[in-house]
Order: sequence, then structure tokens, then C-alpha cells
Amino acid sequence: MIKNENVLGLVKKFNENKMSHVFLMETNDKTALLSDILELCKVMNCMETFQNDCNHCNLCHLIDTETLPSLKIIVPDGQVIKKEQMEELKNAFAYKPYIAKFNIYIIEDAEKFNRESANTMLKFIEEPEQDLYGFLITNNKENVIETIKSRCEIVKAIYSIQEKPISEKIVALANQYLYQLEVEKGLSIVYNKGILDENLEKEELIQFFKVLLDIYSNDFNKNYANKGFPKLTERELLKRIGLTNEMIERLNYNVNINLVLDSFVLGLEEEV
Ligand SMILES: [Zn+2]
Repeated sequence: MIKNENVLGLVKKFNENKMSHVFLMETNDKTALLSDILELCKVMNCMETFQNDCNHCNLCHLIDTETLPSLKIIVPDGQVIKKEQMEELKNAFAYKPYIAKFNIYIIEDAEKFNRESANTMLKFIEEPEQDLYGFLITNNKENVIETIKSRCEIVKAIYSIQEKPISEKIVALANQYLYQLEVEKGLSIVYNKGILDENLEKEELIQFFKVLLDIYSNDFNKNYANKGFPKLTERELLKRIGLTNEMIERLNYNVNINLVLDSFVLGLEEEV
């Protein structure tokens, strides 16, 4: 089922034969958007009149299993989308769609085009085929090379983030970490290893800092000072609240968990 209303709007346009061929789609949730685009691809290609969860036709099944030859999903090779990747795509789509009605490509992280790959991409966009559609995904359209951006129809697809409940494991880890930070001290950044060894998902690590934020903001002096923790001054608390907030922000954008954790501990050690 398509969740975002702007993506749903594209279904309407497609049915009215008014849909553009290349889109730059800006989103706060790439995974959710990708799943919506794949649903849209089903609507476009379905051999029957598409209904949610079409499981009659082979085409929708091929899309679900990511084995439809005329649907290509490009993921950056490391930090960039490479020229070779675009050339491969161009070659693959030099032919009419195979099995399906349309050739469709999806490019993840469109902000990762470099000059060379963007040029190849532009040639691709500039020779439009009626049966070719493209969806470029980004979390910030301002970071996408201007020449590409200007040739795409821009669609914004914002999703409400549904938070998973925080597990007991995360709460326990946060409390253990808090103890090391506030009571044991002096171990510096060594105890970050304990957290890193847990191999937490980014989302879990954000939850981890939310637990810390909650403790510092609400009940540190009330409930922790009598469990062997030192009482903190207002100023010390504010500093911790500021730092944990900053960590949550940074984790949302930064995948280097190592660095983020280190900077948290180092930040705490600095004099106010
Ligand atoms: Zn179908």
C-alpha cells in the first residue's frame, strides 16, 4: 500500500497519462519511500488492474522479489554514484522493456552523483523514451547537482516516523553507561567499546541517547543520587542535556558511531 499522499498523487497522474518521466524525490525516510516507489512500479506494470497486494500477476511478484529485469535500483558504490554504474544502466535500457510495460530505474542517494556520472545521467534524461521512467531519491535536494535537479520534477515525500518501543536491553545499557560516565569516571573513552560491541542499529543507539536524555532531564538528582551517583549541579545537568541532544541530532545524520560516541565522552570531560 502506498503510504505517502504525494506518491499516491503520481498514481493518479499516471492513470491520467500525465506523469513526468524523471523525478527527484526528497524524503526523510528513504526506506519508506523506496517501498512506496516499488508499489508505484507495480501499479504501472501490473498485468491486471492493480489492487493492493496484487498477488495474482507474475509482474508484481517479480517486483517484490527484485528480479524484474526492467526495474533497476542503483545504490552508490561507496560514497559516489559512479559513471560506470550509469553507463551500465544506459546499456541495460538501450532495449525495449523486457516482460514489463516500462523500463524503470530508481537511484538511491541522488546527492552522490559526481560530475562524470551526472553527465552520463544527463544524456540519459535528455533522450527520453516514452517507456522509460526514473526515480531519484535524496534526503536533501539542495545537495543534488543542479543540472540534474533542474531536469527532474521534484516531489516531496515526508513520512511520520513511527518509533519502536525502547527495549529493556537499551535501558539497561544506558544505565550501565551512565554509571561508567558519572561514577567510575577516569576510564575516558575506553568504555565506549562496551557499547560498540553490542553492534546496535542506529535507531537503537538513538534510543540509547534518548534514555540518557530522559534521565538527565527528569530524574537524575532525584533517583540516581541515592544509588551511589554524585549529585549534579544545575549547570552540569544542562551541559549533559545539551550534549545528549546533540548526540541524537548527530546520529540522525552521521553513520560513524565510533566518532559520535567519542565526541560525547570528550565533551563531558571538557570543563564547563
Ligand atoms: Zn499485479
